[in-house]
Amino acid sequence: MVDLATIHPKVAERDIDGITTLAEQLGVDLVIVGPEGPLVDGLSNRLKKHGIACCGPSAAGARVEGSKVFAKELMDRAQVPTARWEAFSDVQAALAAINRWRGPVVIKADGITGGRGAFVCMTKVAAEKALHALLVNSEFGVAGRRIVVEEFLQGIEASITVLTDGESVLPLHVVRSEKRRDEGDTGPNTDGMGAWLPVEELYEQQIEEAIEAGIKPALEDYRERGMNYVGVLYADVMFTKTGPKVLEYNCRFGDLELQSMVRSMDEDLLDLLHRTATGTLGEFGTELAEASQATTAIAIIDSAYPRVESLDTVTAIAGLADAAELEGVEVFLGSVATTGTGKSKGPGAAGGRVLTVTAVADTVEASTALAHEAAALITFEGSFHRTDIAANAGIFA
Ligand code: AMP
Repeated sequence: MVDLATIHPKVAERDIDGITTLAEQLGVDLVIVGPEGPLVDGLSNRLKKHGIACCGPSAAGARVEGSKVFAKELMDRAQVPTARWEAFSDVQAALAAINRWRGPVVIKADGITGGRGAFVCMTKVAAEKALHALLVNSEFGVAGRRIVVEEFLQGIEASITVLTDGESVLPLHVVRSEKRRDEGDTGPNTDGMGAWLPVEELYEQQIEEAIEAGIKPALEDYRERGMNYVGVLYADVMFTKTGPKVLEYNCRFGDLELQSMVRSMDEDLLDLLHRTATGTLGEFGTELAEASQATTAIAIIDSAYPRVESLDTVTAIAGLADAAELEGVEVFLGSVATTGTGKSKGPGAAGGRVLTVTAVADTVEASTALAHEAAALITFEGSFHRTDIAANAGIFA
């Protein structure tokens, strides 16, 4: 980012006072809040109070991501189709429910866990283990003190992101992403290991139905309770045989989803975000142009992820320039710090999800092949990426 912007390293992500003061000092026209933490803490409310335009919902809006129980209650109230669920704080009560339900379940921490607090449990033993980790060992701290147990759904999972200025709703391109860490869709859940678009395995009507049934009623619920939702609303949707069901809401973009979308988009994203924050989205319209190109994104992680998010030692990343030289490839740096001195100075891997390789081409098949070719060129100590990202693109099951 140092090549693109002035960094203000002293202001921490959740320092609401510091961010507001800095925005005032710089006289910025717009603040785009990337992560959910500061939104949950009320950064958007504070900026608004100071007359600064902000793309991101208020603290009340961000609760839709900040608490799974809140989101599930909202879905029930607004009649949004979702997986059957129950909330628990007690291990025995949760175990009893799992025994009663029979069949696989998904166990989720109520609070913010950076996408890692959901456990897909295909066996009773796995469910017991997840309950133990959350409610007994407190592996997610207060975020996991209350949990949601829900029915396991099968189908095609895709994310739908909309921008809303409180009045107009603009759906962005639908993206599919792979959340499990390991090949063949196994291993722990992560923030995302890969993504692609366009999603040819869904029909236009299915996507429209998901927006009408899964997103608009939630926004309407906010309006009815006097809290206009302004900003990005992201819904993870499972397209099941009986229709779309919302798995969760986020109050901001998904990283890989946005990195993919932005490469396939002809519109000026900054303009759209500014319109979202200033109530002028309606003048733009209610539809984006069709994605002009296909994009595939592959995350390259440190192999300790998602257990360890940052490393004490930063190791040099090799192959970045070679990958970037491939036509259609662009690399987004994530958990990266400068390493080395003099001529050997360059980006180093700092742990977690280190970077995303994106590739555009005419078809998903071609963008996927190109993304894998580029990802194979990039290495650092302990680097890992899935080699089967988008292998199922275009398949209807
Ligand atoms: P969440 O944090 O709720 O999005 O869950 C993380 C991931 O777990 C999702 O992206 C899905 O792949 C999976 N997942 C969550 N809920 C369910 C469910 N009810 N049925 C099947 N898979 C689920």
